Amino acid sequence: MRLITRLLLPLCASVSFSCLANTCNTGRLQSPINITSTQKQKLPALEFTYLTSPLVIANDGHTLRVRLNNHSQLKLGKQIYTLSQVHFHTPAGDQISGETFPMGAHFLHKSSSGQLLALVVLFRVGDSNKTFDTLLSNIPKQVGPNQAIQSTSINVNGLLPVSKGYYRYMGSLTAPPCTEGVEWLILKEPISVSTEQLAVYKKSFSDNARAAQPVNQRPILESM
Ligand SMILES: [Zn+2]
Repeated sequence: MRLITRLLLPLCASVSFSCLANTCNTGRLQSPINITSTQKQKLPALEFTYLTSPLVIANDGHTLRVRLNNHSQLKLGKQIYTLSQVHFHTPAGDQISGETFPMGAHFLHKSSSGQLLALVVLFRVGDSNKTFDTLLSNIPKQVGPNQAIQSTSINVNGLLPVSKGYYRYMGSLTAPPCTEGVEWLILKEPISVSTEQLAVYKKSFSDNARAAQPVNQRPILESM
C-alpha cells in the first residue's frame, strides 16, 4: 500500500489532465475536436463589435493573453457576448477534416447570464499579420500578471478573417477543470501568419494545444 501511494503521489502532486478523475477524462463534450461530418444550416450571422482599446497583455508561461475590458461584443442571434480575452495555441487544437493548423486564437466571451462562448480563429502559414506583429513586439519577458503597454492600442478585429462563416458545437474549456457547456464557434476561413512570426512566438511559448477529443455523436452545425 505504501509503495502504491509512493508511486502515485509524485504523479498527482500537480494539477494535470491525468490526475484529475473528472470532466477532463470522463466528459463527453470536450474540446478541441476534429470536425469531419457537419450539418449545414442557416445559422445566425455573427455580428462583431470589437473596439480599439489600450493594449493590456500577459505572459502566463503557457500563452500570450490579450485582456479586453472595453465592451467589445459578439452578437449571435439575440444573444450578446462580451469579449474578455484572446490567447493563442500552437498548434491550433481544432482540426478540419484532419487538417491541423500551426496556430489558433481563442476569443473568450461571456453573456450577461454567464454563458461562455469560445470563438476560434485558425492560422495557416503565409503572409504576416499586422495585429499579431503588435502583440509579438510586446510579449512580456517575464511570466506574470497583466501589463498595460503605454501608448499602444489594439483592435483584435485584425485577427479575424474576412468571411465569417462558422462551425458550431457544444464543447468545453481545454484546460482543467475542462468545464463543459461552452459554446464553440470555429471560423471556417483561416487567416495567415508568417513563418518568421511563428518562430518569434515559439521562442517565448512552447506548444500548448490539447489533443483532439472524441466527438461522441455531438451535432456539428455548419453555416451555409
Ligand atoms: Zn484556449
